[in-house]
Amino acid sequence: ERKAALEGARGPGATSDGHKVPLLANVGGPGDVRAAVEAGAEGVGLFRTEFLFLDDGSRPPSEDRQAEVYRQVLEAFPEGRVVVRVLDAGADKPLGFLTPADEPNPALGVRGLRTLLDHPDVLHTQLTALARAAEGLPVYLEVMAPMVADRADARAFADACRSAGLRAKFGAMVEIPAAALRARSVLQEVEFLSLGTNDLAQYTFAADRQLGAVARHQDPWQPALLDLVAFSAEAAKAEGKSCGVCGEAASDPLLACVLTGLGVTSLSMGASALPYVRATLAKHTLAQCERAAAAARAAESGEDARRAAQAVLSGE
Ligand code: PEP
Ligand code: MG
Repeated sequence: ERKAALEGARGPGATSDGHKVPLLANVGGPGDVRAAVEAGAEGVGLFRTEFLFLDDGSRPPSEDRQAEVYRQVLEAFPEGRVVVRVLDAGADKPLGFLTPADEPNPALGVRGLRTLLDHPDVLHTQLTALARAAEGLPVYLEVMAPMVADRADARAFADACRSAGLRAKFGAMVEIPAAALRARSVLQEVEFLSLGTNDLAQYTFAADRQLGAVARHQDPWQPALLDLVAFSAEAAKAEGKSCGVCGEAASDPLLACVLTGLGVTSLSMGASALPYVRATLAKHTLAQCERAAAAARAAESGEDARRAAQAVLSGE
């Protein structure tokens, strides 16, 4: 029955009144591409490149090896969009040869973009490999940095992309509340934002994303998190730029409608969630999504936010 409900639900993501919300896939490498294409993904919204760096635990993969793997992913989406995230090492993704071993709080330490700015050679090699991989392909390449805290981070990343000769759009992930609060300033340096709601929840609620004891704070429906999504999306709109979501939040069909209502411009998720998100989005108008978003933001807890949005979207 579930399957039947999804049949016919192909094509680009959009609300019932035709407001387009590109639905993209999160992938970890070429092995995930097939499922993404089969699910009808319009491209890749988050290519997690960490996995490639785990192959040999003692040093980064060579430029040739990286270029080969990146090309396999880029080739799968001719004319489509592929958003590649540069290496996100540290905290929940430690890499022995890059991640400092002696930090008392690795989630608050040298991780993500911070690691790359400490190892500019690693960043440069990755960006050069990406430039080579994209050569001659009609793909629409976007490259983004994880864990951008402020405008200086965004500028350092954009400078590194330019000096590697990369012809792509450069973006910043919003995973740190400071970046959401000052999104307009970050957008002076980059062309798009992508909300990493998993880390954004972790840092907003000071709750380790891997710790069961504080798991309730990882709920992406929490109104404070929705506020930060709204700030980011509004800033992007004011700057005429895009703001997607690539964290787990995007894979919840109901929340996908709320994110759309908050002004998010694309949603990226694991391929298996894509048909459900597409089908749910297609049932509601943009105005309904906006009303659901307002109701969710007015709630006092994640649970109430979900209930309030559900009530609006089911026409209660
Ligand atoms: C996130 O933090 O939401 C995100 C998309 O990145 P990751 O889960 O890989 O940290
Ligand atoms: Mg993250």
